[in-house]
Amino acid sequence: MHVTAKLVNVFQVDKQLRGLQSRLRSAEAFLSQQSKDLQQLDGKRAALDAQLKTHAAQAADHQGEVARLDAKLESIRTQMNSAQTNKEYQAFLTEVNNYKTDRDRAETAALELLAKADEIKKQLAELDSQRGERDQVRQVASGDRDARAREIQTQVAELKAKRDQLAADVPPAALATLDRLLSQRGEEAMASIDVQDRKRHEYTCGSCQMSIPVDAVNGLLTNGKVTMCSSCQCLLYIGEDAAQALVPPTAASRR
Ligand SMILES: [Zn+2]
Repeated sequence: MHVTAKLVNVFQVDKQLRGLQSRLRSAEAFLSQQSKDLQQLDGKRAALDAQLKTHAAQAADHQGEVARLDAKLESIRTQMNSAQTNKEYQAFLTEVNNYKTDRDRAETAALELLAKADEIKKQLAELDSQRGERDQVRQVASGDRDARAREIQTQVAELKAKRDQLAADVPPAALATLDRLLSQRGEEAMASIDVQDRKRHEYTCGSCQMSIPVDAVNGLLTNGKVTMCSSCQCLLYIGEDAAQALVPPTAASRR
């Protein structure tokens, strides 16, 4: 078997392996998206929680102020009752009105903050229910990923062993080229030539459709010489369709 045929064998097993693993990769991608969404919800939740705590603390400060001013007002009113003159009484009254304004302002601020806190609590409840749903999706995705991994485990191991065995038979330099192309181009690492017109010697690369010189095709036909497409740099081979199109008419009729 010539070197290009050996490369094709490795390439085809590699393709099967990639096909199997791509289903697992998509399950993994879906799972990781769910985990990311959950993290994002958790981040939002933490921010809202911090806001809630700030509002509650500020409301408590204002409520403390209300209590302090209520005590103050209470003591002034007691003093008012024992006022000796109208002037003294009026002075207490002005003081009461001033404190009362401060007290009402503090109470309004406290109520506004408590209303904001209630709004945040509603948003938190909504987030929690979203998180619960998302977590269920994530759990299903995780189970799905594991099931797929188990499903293909044996096949992957078999294909890897087969690939290793086939690869061991390929000259190291050619194998290195294929491995490099596989990591760069995946399934476009190798391409069959396409026979456009055999009589006119018109051949093209199955990957980039650019024309391939007849010498290159002859090299592949006679001894499977390692040949790269000069345009897209993929490794060329002669696939089944091309091989049939290249059989000389006499040989074809002899079959
Ligand atoms: Zn090409």
